[in-house]
Amino acid sequence: MSGTARARRPLKQGYFTVPENPAEPPKLMGTVCKDCGEYFFPKRVVCAKCLSENTADAMLGPQGTLYSYTFVHFPLFGSTKVEHSTGYGVGQVDLPEGPRVQVPLAGKQEDFKVGMPLVAELDPIREDGDKDVVILRFAPVAGGAK
Ligand SMILES: [Zn+2]
Repeated sequence: MSGTARARRPLKQGYFTVPENPAEPPKLMGTVCKDCGEYFFPKRVVCAKCLSENTADAMLGPQGTLYSYTFVHFPLFGSTKVEHSTGYGVGQVDLPEGPRVQVPLAGKQEDFKVGMPLVAELDPIREDGDKDVVILRFAPVAGGAK
């Protein structure tokens, strides 16, 4: 290891940012309605609240609040990492801008509690040549229940 972080690419384009600095948390790529102010994730062309097409890209998060969650005892799809082979959490997370998103959770079942603050992070699930393929997960805020 040279100490240099490996390049990262998202599993799928258009859903979250991959900051150059690995210490910087990712943001979710959503939409804001410029007429009524409602936020959406994922992106959409027409506002689901007022049907306006006057929408723009908006960055959401990286913070969130855990609304509800469950754990599945099934390997994380697409991952070759051994730590993902026994299952993973899925949470419904309220973003500060309003949308409630369903996202994978990073951590063990006992790390999570409804209502706790979370923060988005990028988690490598496999390699693609010289790059790590990453997904966005929400983890307990450092210093929390982790
Ligand atoms: Zn609207």
